[in-house]
Amino acid sequence: MYCRNCGLEIDEKASVCIHCGVSAGKGDKYCQNCGTTSNPNEQACLSCGVQLAGTGKDWLTTLLLSAFLGYLGIHRFYTGHTAIGVIQLLTGGGCGIWALVDLIMIVTKNYTDAEGNPLSDVKI
Ligand SMILES: [Zn+2]
Ligand SMILES: [Zn+2]
Repeated sequence: MYCRNCGLEIDEKASVCIHCGVSAGKGDKYCQNCGTTSNPNEQACLSCGVQLAGTGKDWLTTLLLSAFLGYLGIHRFYTGHTAIGVIQLLTGGGCGIWALVDLIMIVTKNYTDAEGNPLSDVKI
């Protein structure tokens, strides 16, 4: 994979870039998969189509899904937590309580997607 900060190749298991010292997955200048330059506000690479590391799902979309469809677990499906989404769908968002907890987590920005990426802020 490639460093998202300097674009040089780094080991797949490296947690820090050996070239520039930035944590792997941090940065917004290069694609971690193919190493081509990426735009800071891109969510996916234009060259190879992978989701760029460190770019979580859209925070506002997740918030709205959770607020209106949280009892169906739709926000869980959206952020890749499919198994939890199914449980929430079957239990009505854990009788609404689980859906409410998720909503609070999203509002306070403690919610992460299935890959552990924080939700991306609204880009203006
Ligand atoms: Zn680097
Ligand atoms: Zn790429």
